[in-house]
Amino acid sequence: MAGEPQADCLFCKIVAGEVPATVVRETDTTVAFRDINPQAPSHVLVIPKAHHRDAAALAAEAPETVADLLREAGRVAADERIDETGYRVVFNTGSGAGQTVFHAHAHVLGGRGLAWPPG
Ligand code: C5P
Repeated sequence: MAGEPQADCLFCKIVAGEVPATVVRETDTTVAFRDINPQAPSHVLVIPKAHHRDAAALAAEAPETVADLLREAGRVAADERIDETGYRVVFNTGSGAGQTVFHAHAHVLGGRGLAWPPG
């Protein structure tokens, strides 16, 4: 069922505390933690606690949580002090776009110049 924890999902295990992560923010519906392989001086992932496969599934299955996720992305950026210099919120969606963990997550990246278009 949509939103239910998946036994084989790494991010569900982080939500459950079964896999360690450096958590920087948490709400009733979201967790934000530092990416283990940072691509910028600030690189934080914001995920819904409920399991949804990607951003599109999250929007279809729990639209109210999309707002929570984006609000938290903005708060992370403020906490990381990258909100004034500029930051990027990225949802890799599908393996062709680089998605490797199939539990929706927003990358919040900043602290360096960010080229456009992205690679
Ligand atoms: O968008 P994508 O699915 O590739 O992003 C998954 C991200 O999860 C990667 O940036 C990876 O470094 C991160 N990760 C993590 N902690 C883990 C496993 C993966 O931060 N234990």
